Amino acid sequence: MEKILRKIPPIHELQKNEVFQELMNDNGIELEQMTEMMKKIIEQIRESIHNRHWNGPMPGTGEFNEYIYNQLEDSIKKKFSFTLKRVINATGTILHTNFGRARLSEKAIEHVIEVAKNYSNLEYELEKGERGSRHSHVESLIKHMTGAEAAMVVNNNAAAVYLVLRALAKNREVLVSRGQLVEIGGSFRISSIMEESGAQLIEVGTTNKTHLHDYVEKISEETAMLLKVHTSNFKVIGFTKQVSTRELAELANKHQHIIFYEDLGSGVIYDFQRLGIGEEPVVSDVLKMGVDIVSFSGDKLLGGPQAGIIAGKKALIDQLKKHQLARVVRVDKMTLAALEGTLIDYLKGEEGRKNIPIIRDILITKEELKTRAEAFTAKLQSLNNLFITNLADGTSQVGGGTMPDVAIPSTIISLNHKRYSAEELARKLRQESHPSIIVRVQKESVYLDLRTVTEEDEEFILSALVHMV
Ligand SMILES: *Cc1c(COP(=O)(O)O)cnc(C)c1O
Repeated sequence: MEKILRKIPPIHELQKNEVFQELMNDNGIELEQMTEMMKKIIEQIRESIHNRHWNGPMPGTGEFNEYIYNQLEDSIKKKFSFTLKRVINATGTILHTNFGRARLSEKAIEHVIEVAKNYSNLEYELEKGERGSRHSHVESLIKHMTGAEAAMVVNNNAAAVYLVLRALAKNREVLVSRGQLVEIGGSFRISSIMEESGAQLIEVGTTNKTHLHDYVEKISEETAMLLKVHTSNFKVIGFTKQVSTRELAELANKHQHIIFYEDLGSGVIYDFQRLGIGEEPVVSDVLKMGVDIVSFSGDKLLGGPQAGIIAGKKALIDQLKKHQLARVVRVDKMTLAALEGTLIDYLKGEEGRKNIPIIRDILITKEELKTRAEAFTAKLQSLNNLFITNLADGTSQVGGGTMPDVAIPSTIISLNHKRYSAEELARKLRQESHPSIIVRVQKESVYLDLRTVTEEDEEFILSALVHMV
């Protein structure tokens, strides 16, 4: 055994090899790190030999050296690869929270890169040559598109809700219908965020029915705000009633000291409802009904970056901007760039909106998907005979906790492998393909919904299936 161990080349010799040098230079890694990785690999081999577990090539042979450098290459890949990486979402769920919600438009992406690479006028007024405000950049766009007097952007909509409650209702009472005390995602509850903010929650009405007089009865000197929460991620059906935005606005208007705030959740600028998709209120319509302030997410149905947008009365927004917490929840320049890029796409109307991936994805018709699915399966069958494919009518979800009751008609490819079960096939696509491909498994088949797959991704999925071992 000693004899075998002695045949392992010393590190300084292994370093001289051109493969080592190439790996180091191509990957741009410093010598010290390379040496550490090399040492670890040799150490493990020594231990294996010592414990008589070694079944690799014998030291001293050409195969042994090849083995070591392959190991080194693997170590480099492991150590320096990202853990946050792209995946291909073939589930058809457009705003999948687990997969990063909205994909950004090209314009948004370009703008992020430019602002990330260079200095910018983030907080600088070029006209006057003096300090400016980061709020200024997207404010006019939001005002223009929502009709609001003023607007600001914070880290996400959860932060927006917190800031609004803390800055405008701390130590005072906030009236919320019991039917709107929602939980969103894993950890965001209106009741808990309210408690954190120091505002006192006054529950109004019952879980299924709340009337205007329920609010009226609870209004007192201590009331700072009426809060309406858009129940984005669930639907109460049957014997139900909620008070309309218009009625609540009228009620708040009768009391000088009461602010009416609506947390819209998704907040759409593009009217999906007009196309018969969902019932999301358009932000400008809500403000027209007399709401004092609204807030909504940047990365739900707006299709931009993670952000919370607050829009409404200037006096209130000014108060929010000045609050200490505004600094705590302020957005990064890259978020602002992405949001500005997205909003400019909206500003251009029909043509620009087509560039926003989530809008495009929602609007793709079942027929378009059928054409793509037919071409996809024909190609797959011509390249490989291990798959059984079928097309079926199915539905895609909007996701991200929005439009829970909306099922968008879609064409689904159902896929079976002659050797692997649907579960195995799904696992292989997830684990062995890079980037990972995420699919649905239903009725013992893998379901591919091309709605959330770009044409470039389609080629990739084909290749992953064809080369599957
Ligand atoms: C999603 C949502 C939030 C939280 O928004 P994020 O942008 O995810 O922080 C708050 N309120 C409602 C009603 C929502 O739907």
